[in-house]
Amino acid sequence: MSLATQTLASLRRRIADGEIHPRDVVADLATAIDAGNPQLGAYLSWDAERALAEAEKADLSLPLAGLPVGIKDNINVTGQPCTCGSKMLAENYTAPYDAGAIVRLRAGGAVPFGRLNMDEFAMGSTTENSALGLTRNPHDPQRVPGGSSGGSAAAVAGHLAIAALGSDTGGSIRQPAALCGCVGLKPTYGRISRYGLVAFASSLDQIGPLTKTVEDAALLLNHLCGKDGRDSTSLDTPVPDFTSALGRDIQGLRIGLPKEYFIDGLHPGVSASVKAAVDRLAALGAELVEVSLPHTDLGVATYYIVAPAEASANLARFDGVRYGHRSEEATDLMEHYFKSRAEGFGPEVKRRILLGTYVLSSGYYDAYYLKAQRARTLIRRDFEQAFEKVDLLISPTSPAPAHKLGELKDNPLAAYLEDVFTIPANLAGLPAISVPCSPVEVEGVALPVGLQLIGKPLDELTVLRAADAFERG
Ligand code: GLN
Repeated sequence: MSLATQTLASLRRRIADGEIHPRDVVADLATAIDAGNPQLGAYLSWDAERALAEAEKADLSLPLAGLPVGIKDNINVTGQPCTCGSKMLAENYTAPYDAGAIVRLRAGGAVPFGRLNMDEFAMGSTTENSALGLTRNPHDPQRVPGGSSGGSAAAVAGHLAIAALGSDTGGSIRQPAALCGCVGLKPTYGRISRYGLVAFASSLDQIGPLTKTVEDAALLLNHLCGKDGRDSTSLDTPVPDFTSALGRDIQGLRIGLPKEYFIDGLHPGVSASVKAAVDRLAALGAELVEVSLPHTDLGVATYYIVAPAEASANLARFDGVRYGHRSEEATDLMEHYFKSRAEGFGPEVKRRILLGTYVLSSGYYDAYYLKAQRARTLIRRDFEQAFEKVDLLISPTSPAPAHKLGELKDNPLAAYLEDVFTIPANLAGLPAISVPCSPVEVEGVALPVGLQLIGKPLDELTVLRAADAFERG
């Protein structure tokens, strides 16, 4: 059997036993990608020779002993492309340095292998906003993989990656993990350095792992977290051994069901699957408590002001001078800016820049941006109050299973509303995981459904402990 189908945990054991070498893993993975990627479209590029060379000289005494990890194409890895799924960076940008998360990953022994497709600049929930190609859901090629880390989720679930990194600003790790049927973890804001992650909305962005199992998420997290002097928002707090959360019971753990999250618009199959998951957690000894997050209905509107506002500032640097696509049509400086940005950015990115510029402009700042900041505080307080009563919160990750390709393409508002369950954890900076629960049958295909567990700040251990107990059943 191809080693591409295995987990980090099992490969690590087999490498330690001398049964296989990491080069065998990279070789099998390269074969799987060559065969499967033309259909799946998960990778934008990959350099098997380079990864083989790195695996060849891997230090086998390190915990991630030469194991390949796929990287979302907005995280810089020295000498590799970093397109952000955009024409803006596709032509002439090669990363000159390793992101902070990559430095740590390498220190743990891992080999970054391959660049994974994404919605342009991480704006979207289907990966259809990539300017560079289509990614399909491994469970049904007519459906989207979710997004924006759709390439990462499709690769892991489709066995074209052992594990991958994604980024999550409003759900972009958890939602594609849910739709593709893998595990996706967004850690507490500040746990993982954002240095070298191309910024979308800096107060919300966070890197995290997409994996086949909760155990693998814990393993990777051990080699991603920690203070980085180059990211002033990265936290200087001790990093526990996240694998210590595994194999434990959840007897007496108090899990809150936010009543606002179990709403009418929920797909009936998702609702049934999440209810069954709640029963399973109760059978495992958890104490289920109904809680209220009264400002939930402000989440989507708040996010779609804060995130575009920050994006409009962050994306100002792509002007074709130092970075990005440069128009050949321009005859003067202003035209150079206008044409380079008009040609380089796709429609969703332009929509966000316009929205963000508008809500930050004088006369509208107080009415929109400032108000959104206040709503953000209310949402954070909702969580603080709920966490006085419970250890964890539970919800569906996404209100529906994977949509058909094209279904949401011309309706950005409908797509934004799908982020209702994932956005609040970003606004409040909380750790949250999506773990597969029972699939739902749609048109004769079993489609994955994700269960979301949200934890207290810095309490990834409890999130992982419950997710692992749930996964083991
Ligand atoms: N779907 C959300 C958006 O389009 C979230 C994206 C993300 O987390 N990067 O902004």
